[in-house]
Amino acid sequence: NAEFPKPERTRLIAVANQKGGVGKTTSTVNLSAALAQNGAQVLVIDMDPQGNASTALGISHASGEPSVYDVIEGRMSVAEVKRTCPDFPTLDVVPSSIDLSGAELELADMARRTDRLKDALETFLNGSDVHYDYVFIDCPPSLGLLVINAMCAVHEMLIPIQAEYYALEGLGQLINTIGLVQDHYNPSLTVSTMLVTMFDRRTLLSREVYAEVKGHYPSIVLDTTIPRTVKISEAPSFGKSVIAYDPHGAGAISYGEAALELARRSPHVLEAIDARMKER
Ligand code: ADP
Ligand code: MG
Repeated sequence: NAEFPKPERTRLIAVANQKGGVGKTTSTVNLSAALAQNGAQVLVIDMDPQGNASTALGISHASGEPSVYDVIEGRMSVAEVKRTCPDFPTLDVVPSSIDLSGAELELADMARRTDRLKDALETFLNGSDVHYDYVFIDCPPSLGLLVINAMCAVHEMLIPIQAEYYALEGLGQLINTIGLVQDHYNPSLTVSTMLVTMFDRRTLLSREVYAEVKGHYPSIVLDTTIPRTVKISEAPSFGKSVIAYDPHGAGAISYGEAALELARRSPHVLEAIDARMKER
């Protein structure tokens, strides 16, 4: 789709928020699917031991199957464990596994413990025949070593924010952690995108949350909001993104619009990352 500009180089994006249930996985899955549907080559890395992103993209992830756990532990390469989403030929997935729940502790004693994912991803992208336009990493709801690994492997953070009363609670802590990672490990790291999810246009609360987040982060928050819809919540149980499950519904349309906004911002975002790198 010519409407969707391709980024000049690979955009590496970690989707994080230490709160559970705010739409990290749903946004990772559906933004990736929407971008792939519109011609982008996309890689999703599922870093949550629950494996919900893998499930929603139709990829099995039973214990013992090759997964990101083997990549983190250095036993296998990204190329060896990646699979292709059955609904989108240009959408590849590195599945998670419940085995990954032990990695948080195991990582603590490993060499280059914060850079295990970064090292593996760099090796993969440098050696890959296919050029990836986007890499999304779906993070677990914590601020532990798995999330730090994701933050060290990317340049961009995408923070989903649920339109509800406690929306901004914990955001300060997340921004602090990102600041620490910037100072100690990854100077390029930038919060490039915030996406307000589960938005209900009929409620004042939703509109207030949007206005507040937009007021704090005017250039970061996408104009598009994601409505709360039944189709979005039931798609994963069919092993599908809502883009494949209900392509003409409100959920697919809004994730499509959010993906287009994300794509259109590429030149600006990549320039900002370059500027950060030069400052250091
Ligand atoms: P997280 O990854 O941050 O824990 P999820 O993406 O798994 O959050 O979303 C939490 C729950 O809310 C899931 O059951 C998901 O299907 C549902 N959900 C997420 N976004 C929406 C939405 N826009 N409309 C309806 N349900 C949603
Ligand atoms: Mg999740």
